[in-house]
Amino acid sequence: MEADQTKRTDIGELGEFGLIDKLAGDFAPGRPDTLTGIGDDAAVLDYGGSPVVVSTDMLVEGIHFDLMYQPLKHLGYKAVITNLSDVCAMNAVPRHITVSIAVSNRFSVEAVEELYSGIRAACDAYRVDLVGGDTTSSPRGLIISITAIGTNVREKLTYRSGAKPGDILCVTGDLGAAYLGLQILEREKQVYLANPDMQPELSQKEYLIRRQLKPEARLDSVAYFEKAGLVPTAMIDISDGLASDLMHICKASGTGAYVEEAQVPMHDEARMQAIEFNLDPITCALHGGEDYELLFAVTPADLDKVRFMDSVYIIGEITAREDGIKLHTSGGQLHPLTAQGWKHC
Ligand code: ADP
Ligand code: MG
Repeated sequence: MEADQTKRTDIGELGEFGLIDKLAGDFAPGRPDTLTGIGDDAAVLDYGGSPVVVSTDMLVEGIHFDLMYQPLKHLGYKAVITNLSDVCAMNAVPRHITVSIAVSNRFSVEAVEELYSGIRAACDAYRVDLVGGDTTSSPRGLIISITAIGTNVREKLTYRSGAKPGDILCVTGDLGAAYLGLQILEREKQVYLANPDMQPELSQKEYLIRRQLKPEARLDSVAYFEKAGLVPTAMIDISDGLASDLMHICKASGTGAYVEEAQVPMHDEARMQAIEFNLDPITCALHGGEDYELLFAVTPADLDKVRFMDSVYIIGEITAREDGIKLHTSGGQLHPLTAQGWKHC
């Protein structure tokens, strides 16, 4: 594919996913050991033995995090978690990470050590080894790129593409809290900028702030699937929001879906905070990102296995593609579910 030198298209016209699709078009896997290339939560490579699952994410200061309210230790922890979450979304167990950073001279050695203390904590909590990376300088902000590597036997790996009409749609935990935590931190930042003597008003908001600043990856759910002998038909981690990530499953699986509004789990603090911000709680649950819960589908035959799973919620069903992706509201209406609102690459 030769780039046409005379044409200039704004990246914003395509959006993140449009750009990835355009770039990926030229890189269909050619090797027999590439089981999955671009397009899922992680690539899957098989060199004989257990397949290897590989996922990379990059966090950029000013886009993905703000050091005014994100402590460096938490940032290091979260940067690892977002990658481990993608490995878990393949129903694989994370084993190794590499960490690459670009830092400006604004940062001291101690600051970088603080970042790494969070990376260390995540490695310990998830029994993952840090095995390499790269260190370079940046003209201004901090950039962190992490690659996570994991594994599971071939038959247990789950993709975005395996959902079938009639499958039961489940989520591993409550949604919207991380987004509302971010709104609180942003509000307190504005208050602080306007008047640095003001103390932040964060009491009673611990849950929401923690969901934003120190998320966890659902390795416990992957462990449960193993124990219960359950292999979801499709799975994705909710990084961009339920609506957007459900759309990825439906697109990859060639299906539709419906979600029962009343069954979408929200924490009480999140519901109350949404109302305080004059936001519709369900909108926060559907479109707020960064919860890092797993969204997955199972065949009806496996219903009992999810019924007795801890912290799992049945929120809807996979339907035929022609039925579209729909929200069945608490008021009894059926609305198309569109990926809208808040998203950054
Ligand atoms: P996630 O939100 O699960 O991290 P993304 O939406 O970032 O997934 O990426 C979707 C797919 O596109 C993944 O397979 C990812 O590896 C791939 N991808 C993203 N950016 C690029 C890129 N610049 N070049 C090649 N592949 C990419
Ligand atoms: Mg993902």
